[in-house]
Amino acid sequence: MGYPDIAILGAGESGTGAALLAQTKGLKVFVSDIGQIQQKYKNVLTHNGIRWEEGKHTEHLILSASEVIKSPGIPDNVSLVKNLKAQAIPVISEIEFAARYTNATKICITGSNGKTTTSTLIYSILKKAGYHVGLAGNVGKSFAWQVAENDFDYYVLEISSFQLDGMFDFKAEIAVLLNITPDHLDRYNDSFEAYVRSKFRILQNQTADDAFIYFRDDSVIADYITKIQPEARIFPYTAYTDSRCGGYMKNESTFIININQEIIEMETRDLSLTGRQNIYNSMASGIAARLVDIRKEVIKQSLSEFENIEHRLEQVAVVRGIEFINDSKATNVNSTWYALESIKKPVVWIVGGIDKGNDYGPLIDLVKDKVKAIVCLGKDNSRIIRSFEFVVPDIVETENAADAVKAAYYLGEPGDVVLLSPACASFDLFENYEDRGRQFKQHVFDL
Ligand code: ADP
Repeated sequence: MGYPDIAILGAGESGTGAALLAQTKGLKVFVSDIGQIQQKYKNVLTHNGIRWEEGKHTEHLILSASEVIKSPGIPDNVSLVKNLKAQAIPVISEIEFAARYTNATKICITGSNGKTTTSTLIYSILKKAGYHVGLAGNVGKSFAWQVAENDFDYYVLEISSFQLDGMFDFKAEIAVLLNITPDHLDRYNDSFEAYVRSKFRILQNQTADDAFIYFRDDSVIADYITKIQPEARIFPYTAYTDSRCGGYMKNESTFIININQEIIEMETRDLSLTGRQNIYNSMASGIAARLVDIRKEVIKQSLSEFENIEHRLEQVAVVRGIEFINDSKATNVNSTWYALESIKKPVVWIVGGIDKGNDYGPLIDLVKDKVKAIVCLGKDNSRIIRSFEFVVPDIVETENAADAVKAAYYLGEPGDVVLLSPACASFDLFENYEDRGRQFKQHVFDL
């Protein structure tokens, strides 16, 4: 093989999918991963005759490609990416690449929190309605892989800001923006503004035929919208009573989705997912579903039968009258705020890990009200202790899931909730948030 048409950096789910699609389309592909590639992906690459390397980047080959697809996990400031940019070689994301090869309607969800939940909700509604639909992005099989193997009529795509940074000609027919709170600022030179701009790339290339669904109560989103005046038709949703919105509260316990003259009225207690955040996620999902003409009965039924996703306010077990909840996916302060807000009983709160410069201030009132004891689960807990030592009488430190569960069990009483909602990343003590959540559950089952 001579020089590649396309080089792919990172051979995970998205890189391997992109390689397969590129190969299918007759492009010469070269895949390069600085780490070790998982065996299952190696098998796919080899089986399809795709050239790959691991443990290194052969720079002259990569720099000879006409275009490069970069995994969202690779930051822009590594020297290889800088060299590519210096030579004006386009660096795009797998989502941008795959979109070239499908005519499907793309419903794209972004935001700081709630992407997986909302994407999965929308997907489940379309699926229930009998639509030919794929779920991709950060969840499940990659978008490119699905386009290569069996192209759908609709895709629900969960899209992170890192993916958006590599998207240029892509257009979402329906874009959903859930919220914007500080996260991942390490990748944006600590600039919240840069992160906000990145999230708003979800609107790029939209025309008046497209739709933009967003949470109007999020002040960051609301402010930015007044500045940019989106081209698309807009469908805001709100926690207030405002019938001009696509989704709004009729009263404390009932919400409305009102699109194309059809009104869906739903009791919040009929939603299968608990917590105020899931009322919002359900509104966004219901609006998206109505925009692709799904009947209201199907939407209501899907929202009430939806099965919770692991690690998001997941009910684990009740032991000696103490309820255990796994919210390991809460890796920032905002998601933990919603977790604490949703619980009506006294809480023993397991928190900690790698703190991405958290400001715990917004949690103080809720913690004062609800949390009777804190169990830190992290290597360095100093910021948590400093933030809450005068708010919560009992704070203990632990360095593994077994000790954290035991300590929480010991501190709890019948009628309490033990909540793992760490507000931090997990990499100090665990492989990832899934590993943290699973270990937590295992030790609860062992009690
Ligand atoms: P993401 O894919 O954006 O990380 P998830 O759906 O995996 O979002 O949920 C991550 C965390 O955020 C969980 O703790 C979940 O309970 C919480 N969460 C879900 N939806 C929202 C929302 N709309 N606003 C704030 N937090 C949310």
